[in-house]
Amino acid sequence: MKKERVVIIGSGPAGLTAALYTARAQLNPVVIAGNQLGGQVAITHEIENYPGFPGGLSGPELVERMKEHAESFGAKVVFDMVESVDLTKGSPFYVKTAMDEYMADTVIITIGANPRHLGIPGEDEYVGAGVSYCGTCDGFFFRGKDITVVGGGDSALEEAIFLTRFATSVNIIHRRDELRAGIQLQKRAFDNEKISFTWDTVPEEIISGDSGQVEKIRVRNVKTEEVNELDTQGVFIFIGHEPNNDPFKGQLALNENGYIITDQRFRTSVDGVFAAGEIQDEIWRQVATSVGQGTSAAMSTIHWLEEHENELQELDEELSPEAGD
Ligand code: NAP
Repeated sequence: MKKERVVIIGSGPAGLTAALYTARAQLNPVVIAGNQLGGQVAITHEIENYPGFPGGLSGPELVERMKEHAESFGAKVVFDMVESVDLTKGSPFYVKTAMDEYMADTVIITIGANPRHLGIPGEDEYVGAGVSYCGTCDGFFFRGKDITVVGGGDSALEEAIFLTRFATSVNIIHRRDELRAGIQLQKRAFDNEKISFTWDTVPEEIISGDSGQVEKIRVRNVKTEEVNELDTQGVFIFIGHEPNNDPFKGQLALNENGYIITDQRFRTSVDGVFAAGEIQDEIWRQVATSVGQGTSAAMSTIHWLEEHENELQELDEELSPEAGD
């Protein structure tokens, strides 16, 4: 097994930016991209707030450009899934994927987070047929329709307001009678004539008609236990995200929500392992912030490798095929 200088896990904006910087430092990083380049960005229809692209561009186009840019400096992007890692013995670290295995002096984790699911009947079945986790991606398909948003945080309200550009009405279902979202967003939502609220209510089932498209949502009031079926043509779910931390549990320090804890230099609790993007940032979750974090993590990695150059060289000599002669 060849030892790499840098293995980057994840191919969203943080990972591809880390790849660009470490490749430009001639470290030939390997990016383990998962099955789909770009992670969540790949399903974003249009990005209007990435600096330098005033007309906007699609998520897939942006990550494809980032990939090509990193590759032009020598990064290698492989479409493979990480199955397990061993970070417990210090550098070099071990990364096992579905198709291969890697030894790496340093690891940068940029594997992101996924939208949390309600886990109710009909939810998984009707993704793409009325169920969505991304207003930006899918709002356009709901022009003139009556839709439901689930959640009471900033994302739910921001997306609900955005969705009123397309939908005739947006009903926000929230499990309490008080929103978690910031006061400014609350004010904008309350002032929006297209938005209504159903309080103290949880969804129990998403129901389709003969067409296979969502037509109703069954809900339960948690105070009165009353159950109702509400007409709706779309259900947008914004109830938070789950960090993709499975391979790292028990090996890296995670916060109470499961996000990897990093310091200002994007160092994790293991020396030589760095993290950037949504796997360690549960607040901002923007392409631009992930790009910045990927840059910082890459620069910290480059410094780490410089600082440990002598030890790494000795290790390389020990591991070289001639060492045993
Ligand atoms: P969040 O703040 O964790 O809110 C999740 C919402 O979903 C909460 O209202 C929660 O209810 C509800 N919820 C969670 N699990 C549920 C379930 N199983 N069934 C029904 N409802 C459920 O998540 P977020 O809105 O995605 O925001 C994440 C972070 O990003 C926050 O720090 C937020 O401030 C930030 N953010 C900021 C902006 C902005 O500043 N413009 C925009 C988006 C996100 P409870 O309230 O009862 O817990």
